[in-house]
Amino acid sequence: MNYSSSLSDNPVFALVKKVARQESLETYVVGGWVRDILLKRPSKDVDFVCVGSGIELAENLAREIKGARVSVFKNFGTAMIKYKDWELEFVGARKESYRNDSRKPLVEDGTLEDDQNRRDFTINAMAISLNDNNYGELVDPFNGVRDLKRKMIKTPLSPDITFSDDPLRMMRGIRFASQLMFDIDPDTYEGIVNNVERIKIVSVERITEELNKIIMSSQPSYGFKLLFHTGLLKIIFPEMVALHGVETINGKSHKDNFYHTLQVLDNLCEYSNDLWLRWAAILHDIAKPPTKRFNNKVGWTFHGHEDKGARMVPKIFRRLKLPLNDKMEYVRKLVKLHLRPIALVKDNITDTALRRLLFEAGEDIDDLMKLCRADITSKNPDKVKKYLSNFSKVEKKLLEVEEKDHVRNFQPPISGQEIMQAFNLKPGRIIGTIKEEIKEAILEGDIKNTKNEAWKLMIEVGKKNGLELVSEK
Ligand code: ATP
Ligand code: MG
Repeated sequence: MNYSSSLSDNPVFALVKKVARQESLETYVVGGWVRDILLKRPSKDVDFVCVGSGIELAENLAREIKGARVSVFKNFGTAMIKYKDWELEFVGARKESYRNDSRKPLVEDGTLEDDQNRRDFTINAMAISLNDNNYGELVDPFNGVRDLKRKMIKTPLSPDITFSDDPLRMMRGIRFASQLMFDIDPDTYEGIVNNVERIKIVSVERITEELNKIIMSSQPSYGFKLLFHTGLLKIIFPEMVALHGVETINGKSHKDNFYHTLQVLDNLCEYSNDLWLRWAAILHDIAKPPTKRFNNKVGWTFHGHEDKGARMVPKIFRRLKLPLNDKMEYVRKLVKLHLRPIALVKDNITDTALRRLLFEAGEDIDDLMKLCRADITSKNPDKVKKYLSNFSKVEKKLLEVEEKDHVRNFQPPISGQEIMQAFNLKPGRIIGTIKEEIKEAILEGDIKNTKNEAWKLMIEVGKKNGLELVSEK
């Protein structure tokens, strides 16, 4: 097969060809771009490999493209050009040999073949020539085309060598299987099982990057099941493995929370592409194992799993080197609140309960409702229908209350500054107390969320605390 027509879609390839010819550098497109073009998924990231200096090739190319920016990574012998929305990576062909006693490979200059040998999977080891004599020709030493057709992830060399050299490749294999919905070749799968322990030498950042890509695939349960069955999950994320299994006492069983969680995650993918909402789905029941109890009357309970789960979120984020910022807070909040909408399903629910949830969820109330909908995993379609319609009712009530009371983006109707002026106070604890009483009264429905009503209450609370009004509103 010749792929020169695919190359002609982007003028950059002809330019690389020109520069490569001038410099007499044997040059190829390699890796993910080639795989994706064969899958008819054109991508904007292109890896080039040349037999010689990739940096030199990139620098010469950049002179030909107006507005191109080159970044050179001398230590790695690579260079990157950003041009429009394209990201072009250049590297010299290399041969890597690994020794048992060191994680760092010995890297030497090599041929195209050497370079293809060190790649992770047959489908990622294909190259397309940019050279005059065979422009557009596919160089596919490991029959990656066949593996693309049979939808198979397979290592080019013996799996034990490929995985032991760089154990991250085990995660990558499962990530590609999950993204592409491919199978893993039985020998390759066995290679992962044999090498799982070696994942411990890989940095957490690299592992988590692959984990996040699995989570972002269209059916992440597939990738998680592979992680679980190979034994990788137990090492990288034991809390999730603890969800697995069913216990029975006196004929009473609880559901398998691992498979439940995976189904919630898959369900959620129908509603959302957001990585962090997906993380909330993964973690929503994470504290079920440590809160599990058996009670003779009611059977299995998981009391407080939402609070304990929320407390586990920062620990898990820290260990996995996920960001410890507002994203973490968001996940924590959703885990903590994930049972609350269910409690609001009752017919005689008070406006106070609705206001409290709106206040606590704030801007994230819609995401919380998405999580709750995804959390319905009953196999009985009538039940599913009933639960979904209950949530629609809850949403309607939430909307009504929000229209009336505006607590979703709660802003105190009277600021601390105004309280200080009113009573001629210096900053101190009492101001917080007054603000808190006003907020509580609004959420309880004792006063309306207006400045006037809040002002009256402020005076009352002030009096109780021996304060006298010195300035009017
Ligand atoms: P995507 O960009 O969609 O994640 P990709 O295949 O382009 O997929 P990259 O991480 O961008 O993946 O890597 C580009 C190429 O480099 C791969 O196709 C593969 O040939 C090679 N590669 C990347 N990481 C490794 C690794 N750890 N071991 C061996 N080869 C690798
Ligand atoms: Mg890539």
